[in-house]
Amino acid sequence: MHCGFCLPSCASYLALGSEMDSPRGRIHALKAIEAGELRLDATVASHFDSCLGCLACVSACPSGVRYDQLIEATRPRLNAPELRSPAQQLWRRLLFGVLPYPKRLRALLQPLRAYAGTPLQTLIRSIGLTQVLGPQLAAMEQLLPPLSAESFSDSLPRVVPAAGERRYRVGLLLGCVQRVFDPAVNQATAAVLAANGIEVVIPPDQGCCGAVTHHQGEEAQTRALAAALVRSFAAAGPLDAVLVSASGCGHSLKAYGRLLADAAPELAAAAGELAAKAFDVQEFLAQVGLTAAFEAALRPLPHPDGSPASAERPLTLAYHDACHMLHGQGISAAPRQLLRAIPHVRLREPLEQGVCCGSAGIYNLVQPAEAELLGTRKADDLRSTGAQIAVSANIGCSLQLRRHLEGLPVQHPMQLLARSYGAGPAS
Ligand code: SF4
Ligand code: SF4
Repeated sequence: MHCGFCLPSCASYLALGSEMDSPRGRIHALKAIEAGELRLDATVASHFDSCLGCLACVSACPSGVRYDQLIEATRPRLNAPELRSPAQQLWRRLLFGVLPYPKRLRALLQPLRAYAGTPLQTLIRSIGLTQVLGPQLAAMEQLLPPLSAESFSDSLPRVVPAAGERRYRVGLLLGCVQRVFDPAVNQATAAVLAANGIEVVIPPDQGCCGAVTHHQGEEAQTRALAAALVRSFAAAGPLDAVLVSASGCGHSLKAYGRLLADAAPELAAAAGELAAKAFDVQEFLAQVGLTAAFEAALRPLPHPDGSPASAERPLTLAYHDACHMLHGQGISAAPRQLLRAIPHVRLREPLEQGVCCGSAGIYNLVQPAEAELLGTRKADDLRSTGAQIAVSANIGCSLQLRRHLEGLPVQHPMQLLARSYGAGPAS
């Protein structure tokens, strides 16, 4: 309980340097609260709020301490009104009322179409005008990516047929934030799957998986979102798997059996079934294997100067492990294995592999100062690898990395595979 092996892996400890903001300190505080020696007031709650829920401490702990279960059980208590200021409560209500609902998010973003990704945005940022919005809104503005037409409507069909002989029939989760802020990832994922003989079914009424609210202890809303998603995938007919290309969502889906265990028996059974079939898309592809035809069709990707990568001059990639992929699902080899299938690619590993980038669901919107420190630290680490492209398989991390890695592209492994196959934009 006291060894402290978890401390070097703990992002909040690295950012704040205080024992109270480490797993060991929080476990100590929990024991004191339990023993009646410490009152859970706003100050104590702030030390739990500083936790990113990245689960790195769980991977690091040699004694098998399940900090993840401790913090998950604690989060709902942190939402007591007396523990947050009215402004914090309002901000959270806004985030939970918009982010998990693509229609609402799209409506809110409509007026920003003429701003996001334009020279006006660059100008406003460069003169620091966003800071007048306050730290939270400024953080949101900093994460705002360019918005394409695809951001405002789900352009994928209900079924993307397999190319050639069908090997599997899978469902695809679009993700509430990913479909709006990075729709190209879902398009690339469907293209790669179809090219590998996998039929992709996309339930049109699918909503949010509940990852964002689950992470923040909003239990009732999470269960409602999960139940709706289970129903929409149950209506899709028989599926060999349900695939996810955002690791935060994948981690959430895999917990549905436990989350909805005490729901009505039919719903609980369907939730357990969905959880058992949930895979990260890379985990699934690495397990079932790329087809020989797909692998044979992969071509070298271009360098930033447009020249193709070659054996003498490979393209250098740095893969960023999303916490909910690495620590939450234990997946690290599969994405690297798939990336190595692309000809003339060289993978470099950052030094602080496994340390959170500061995104962590809505962490960078509710704890912007700490997230800023962690984002800068992660960007420096990725840059120091000499990578020409940073690779991220989680939408939250991708937005956070793009915000801090100006000039260095951030791509999803599925986008790189699709481009190498010739199913994506050339550069
Ligand atoms: S949580 Fe695990 S690694 Fe951290 S101090 Fe306790 S025993 Fe050590
Ligand atoms: S979940 Fe992450 S931020 Fe929270 S205590 Fe563990 S390592 Fe630290």
